[in-house]
Amino acid sequence: MSERSAAPLNFPEFNDSADLVRRHKESLFPSVGLNYSEPIELRRGERQFVFDGAGRQYLDFFGGIATVSSGHAIPEINDPIKAQLDRMIHSSTLFLIRSQIELAERIREMTPPKLNKVFFTNSGTEANEAALLVTTLNRNSNELIALRHGYHGRSFATINASGQRPWRSSSLSPLHVHYVGNPYCYRCPWEKTYPSCDMLCARDVEAVIRTTTSGNPAAFIAEPIQGVGGFITPPAEYFVRVKEILDRYGIPFISDEVQSGWGRTGVANFGFQAYNVEPDVIVFAKGLANGIPIGGIAATDELASSIRSLSLSTFGGNPIATTAALANLNFIATNNLRENARVVGAHLKSRLHELAERHQVIGDVRGMGLMVGVELVKDRATKVAAPEIALKLMDAAKIRGLLVGKGGLHANVIRICPPLIITTGDVDAAIDILDAALVAATAA
Ligand code: PMP
Repeated sequence: MSERSAAPLNFPEFNDSADLVRRHKESLFPSVGLNYSEPIELRRGERQFVFDGAGRQYLDFFGGIATVSSGHAIPEINDPIKAQLDRMIHSSTLFLIRSQIELAERIREMTPPKLNKVFFTNSGTEANEAALLVTTLNRNSNELIALRHGYHGRSFATINASGQRPWRSSSLSPLHVHYVGNPYCYRCPWEKTYPSCDMLCARDVEAVIRTTTSGNPAAFIAEPIQGVGGFITPPAEYFVRVKEILDRYGIPFISDEVQSGWGRTGVANFGFQAYNVEPDVIVFAKGLANGIPIGGIAATDELASSIRSLSLSTFGGNPIATTAALANLNFIATNNLRENARVVGAHLKSRLHELAERHQVIGDVRGMGLMVGVELVKDRATKVAAPEIALKLMDAAKIRGLLVGKGGLHANVIRICPPLIITTGDVDAAIDILDAALVAATAA
């Protein structure tokens, strides 16, 4: 790690996190939760490391919820953003924005040829809204097929597209959603075993179309790996089987790549590519600009033309976000971070499997590349979820210098999605910490 001169701070150089917690409670929505029994402020980041108010260093294995895709404070990404900041922050989409056009062209190069139109938004929620708008308009239907345990956003429509009770604050949605059983082999909704199940979960899509819809759903939406759901990773042929059904009924497939995009899975640019299918809409956000807010969709000409009225997003595709995205994509490509995600991710998974041999609370290790989940259970035979161990484990890892995330319907899945620059050495350091943290978290 190189030394950097400290920038002047406009906040106190001491740890006042307890006071910030009080002020957070006082002024922010109570629905917005904080991690850790003693929440921390991350004041500074440098590549795969972050520093709190007390100057403590952490290995960042959560990357701002799979969003700091390359790493923190990377000059090759930040310098072009700073230069753009001084040239022009905002002009609106009513003017030509060079970086927006270049980014759209770049995204077209990275996606299947039929997805040749791009619309930019500022978040994953808004991007999913755009995907839902074009498919519902195109098919003249408000019916959607979605996966249980999926997560697609916090807006009125996307909440309802999400099959996650803890995140469903409302069901008063414009959408009529049909939820199919998800490909969650560790907890198969039908209590079957793969592969003798013959992909009952994929076949359920056809059963749902035939029994509970009007016959004309607008779309099927899924994350290739369910993020908030706890990095639930479908078996290899799941999406091929589903797509074959969707094609027979002419139903578009929306691939929500908000967490799995831009090389994180180590296999390809997007999660769906690991499953050898082509979606009709790709939804992206989070990691595209390494933490600068951005989102959007890539869709077919036909779907893009479904919006017949005027439409724009004031900030969507703004000069700062699109400059950041281009710089980030360049950094990922130049440094071969996708390949790094594959290699380091494989090492991470094998080291986690080793940990599972010693720690009975690890029920399942799953994921692809640097998107890896560890499901914690009270007992391997009963698979009873252990959310309290997940909480203790996160605290215990934090005090030892490692930040990880959490997810899953029962809040019992440790989510590991670090910046893609991490090394196998970082993984080994993290495994040592997790090992000790697991001992601490499970001590009587
Ligand atoms: N889709 C997926 C798969 C997500 O993980 C998220 C965020 N966790 C969203 C959509 C919503 O993105 P945002 O929070 O940027 O609105």
